[in-house]
Amino acid sequence: MSKKVRVRFAPSPTGPLHIGGVRTALYNYLFAKKLGGDFILRIEDTDQNRLVQGAEQYIIDSLKWVGIEPNEGVGFGDGQFAPYRQSDRKDSYRQYAEQLLNADFAYYAFDTETDLEQLKAAHPNFKYDANTRSKGKNSLTLSADEVAQRLANKEHYVIRIKLPLDEDVKFHDEIRGHVTVNTSQMDDKVLLKSDGMPTYHLANVCDDYIMQISHVIRGEEWLPSAPLHVLLYRYLGWESSMPKFAHLPVVLKPDGNGKLSKRDGDRLGFPVFPLEWTDPISNEISSGYKQKGYLPEAVLNMLAFLGWNPGTEQEFFSKEELIEAFSIDNIHKAGAKFDFEKAKWFNAEYIKKLSDEALASLVKEMVCTKFGNQDDTYLAKAVGLVKERFVFLNDIELFGYLFQATEKYDATILSKINNIKENFNVDAFADFLQQQTNTDLIAIETSLKEFATNNTIKVGDMMKFLRVSLVGELSGPTIPELIQLFGSEETSKRVKNCFSQL
Ligand code: GLU
Repeated sequence: MSKKVRVRFAPSPTGPLHIGGVRTALYNYLFAKKLGGDFILRIEDTDQNRLVQGAEQYIIDSLKWVGIEPNEGVGFGDGQFAPYRQSDRKDSYRQYAEQLLNADFAYYAFDTETDLEQLKAAHPNFKYDANTRSKGKNSLTLSADEVAQRLANKEHYVIRIKLPLDEDVKFHDEIRGHVTVNTSQMDDKVLLKSDGMPTYHLANVCDDYIMQISHVIRGEEWLPSAPLHVLLYRYLGWESSMPKFAHLPVVLKPDGNGKLSKRDGDRLGFPVFPLEWTDPISNEISSGYKQKGYLPEAVLNMLAFLGWNPGTEQEFFSKEELIEAFSIDNIHKAGAKFDFEKAKWFNAEYIKKLSDEALASLVKEMVCTKFGNQDDTYLAKAVGLVKERFVFLNDIELFGYLFQATEKYDATILSKINNIKENFNVDAFADFLQQQTNTDLIAIETSLKEFATNNTIKVGDMMKFLRVSLVGELSGPTIPELIQLFGSEETSKRVKNCFSQL
């Protein structure tokens, strides 16, 4: 019987979660949901020196915002295998390091920082391995008595894995196929550190085993660690329940030249983090997709395509459709270029798909803060007129005229409608507008044209003047739509004000 699908997203809280990390979480989530499995959030914080305040909460908040919520894990409720934060499980790892020591798959190493510096200085490209460990101060070179003495004296030590000199480690990667690495390319990695904490490698393997993880789906940067993990499973006697590995392609800069970094986002003007992040030390603020006005659904759709495609022409996928369509077989090996224009396009398209009421509720707070309280029906009508022109939710700020009349018109724009001034009876026009009772768009248009003809004004000139009066610029929705939205009173008020400034 094949085991239940259980996958995990296992970030280290060393800073804000990069958008590539969200992609890893998403693929884990889709895989689990598709196969009726569990998705777990495990926080890998064994490297206490690299912890960044607020990073763990940021990870939780980001997953919540994009809507890929784990079944179990830190911030998402205790499942069978809690705790899910490795520092809270810290005492559980030593027994496994000791099991490896007893089976001669690991050894104590007492080398100080200075000892290691000296070894590195004396041997070019030094790595602690089967060739060089005879030069170190460890339980393979020191007598049993001396080792016992040093341990009794509570000297600092680490426990290292003992790798064979020359052995092929083979495993299958669900994305890359067969992988073979010779142990001569590897080193005797530290498993348990002098502070008693396990390293990432030991904790990661033990937890994946204990938490019954069936598939390890993670970024390609972890591929070089996989042979070591395979050996750990073997040496701990867990090889038959070793998870399957799938190493995801890297997320590349837009030009494909290297990994996408925070600096690329700053340089090219797009966020690389889901939510805004304030560095707790420097107070530097990095922008986030949420605050830039992205819809989480658009971000998910965009991320899904960063290394995967459904094998069909379909581009829009709801979360449910992604779950349905997702398969590891359609994940690419090659790095995925981050395409910011595509991200913007997805967002604009997702905004267009929203109902006027839904868009209104998403921008309501922004509008009310900036332009004062708004009636819900009015707000929905107003955003409906400009929905097609949104790229980001924050673009609502470009349409302030929908909520507030222009006080002082721009001189350059006024100069473009100045010709209306001659022989134009603005009071008669304002009265005409004020008496408008038409609510039908075509009827409004017809009566405007009639007014122009009856008063020997060029329709084009009058419409232009009206447009600037209502919008403050020469763009925007159609005039009848604007009149219908603003109502006769407001329309005639704006017209009078604009005319007075010509
Ligand atoms: N803690 C690792 C990271 O920060 C997780 C690697 C893995 O998923 O095994 O990315």
